[in-house]
Amino acid sequence: ACMFTMMNNARLAVGMQGVAVAETATQKAIAYANERRQGKASAYAGSGMAPIVHHPDVQRNLLTMRALTQIARSISYSCAHALDRARVGEGEAGAKWHDRASLLTPLAKAFSTDVGVEVASLGVQVHGGMGFIEETGAAALYRDARIAPIYEGTNGIQAIDLVSRKLPLGGGEHVHGYISELKTVADAVRTSNIEGFGRTADNLDRALADLDEATRFLQKLLADGKADAAMAGATPYLRLISLAAGGAYLAQGGLADRSRIALCRFFAENLLGETRALKERVIDGAESLVAAGKALISA
Ligand SMILES: Cc1cc2nc3c(=O)[nH]c(=O)nc-3n(C[C@H](O)[C@H](O)[C@H](O)COP(=O)(O)OP(=O)(O)OC[C@H]3O[C@@H](n4cnc5c(N)ncnc54)[C@H](O)[C@@H]3O)c2cc1C
Repeated sequence: ACMFTMMNNARLAVGMQGVAVAETATQKAIAYANERRQGKASAYAGSGMAPIVHHPDVQRNLLTMRALTQIARSISYSCAHALDRARVGEGEAGAKWHDRASLLTPLAKAFSTDVGVEVASLGVQVHGGMGFIEETGAAALYRDARIAPIYEGTNGIQAIDLVSRKLPLGGGEHVHGYISELKTVADAVRTSNIEGFGRTADNLDRALADLDEATRFLQKLLADGKADAAMAGATPYLRLISLAAGGAYLAQGGLADRSRIALCRFFAENLLGETRALKERVIDGAESLVAAGKALISA
């Protein structure tokens, strides 16, 4: 029991390492993109070559970095919040928050550290050739980020933990309670009449429907004793639940603070659609994975 307490704290701390590297890489890339001049940009009113931050493709990279970083941070904070509530809660409420912390711990560790790598890699890209040169620090961040998906339980093991131990919590109902809570955020966006959210509510509904379907599919596989097929979908499932939850957290941010709406909408209309492909990998991918995997085995 003591070992698991230590491990869970360590997982959250390593998740925060992913967030920290991602935040540093994002700040560094935005600063560089405002200095570096290349090409012409119609939106640039100045003379000569435009700072690369004016190019939409560079903006796409920077906004992706910012959105993924904020999502990883919000998932990690939600996990920390649940841990605190579990510590002070009693009875049913305490048990609910304990389950919530258990559900979110593999997300906080694995999604945040994957984001650390993804965002640090985008940071190298924004720096162009300079990203590959040590003096910018962009490559060093990428290298620093790369260890975090490995230690404190590899991210593959976190995904297996999520599917095999966390989806069954509360007789399989805890995760559905969580998904229902996330759905209330989509409803709140729809009824808020606040401008600027674009298609956020509809796209969030769709992502949460993908999550619901994939969750029920995996729970049925586990109930039917088909653990291997469920494990084949564990890693795409972890990213699916993280992106869907992250979309809801960004929307909550937008509801509380209008300066956050533009990023929320960017995420909902540019990145959240990935949940559809992830759901298909979870539901349709296992058979071909196991079939093709046989060719790898020589031991
Ligand atoms: C820089 C550094 C610092 C470290 N610090 C510490 C420390 O302070 N304390 C400590 O205790 N450890 C530490 N470690 C060890 C670290 O926790 C392990 O490297 C990590 O848990 C992975 O174990 P492994 O290296 O044996 O890889 P393996 O377990 O051999 O994993 C190799 C691959 O196989 C996959 N895999 C393994 N088993 C399964 C399975 N059952 N199902 C599906 N996939 C599987 C993994 O996901 C991974 O992709 C550190 C490692 C590094 C690199």
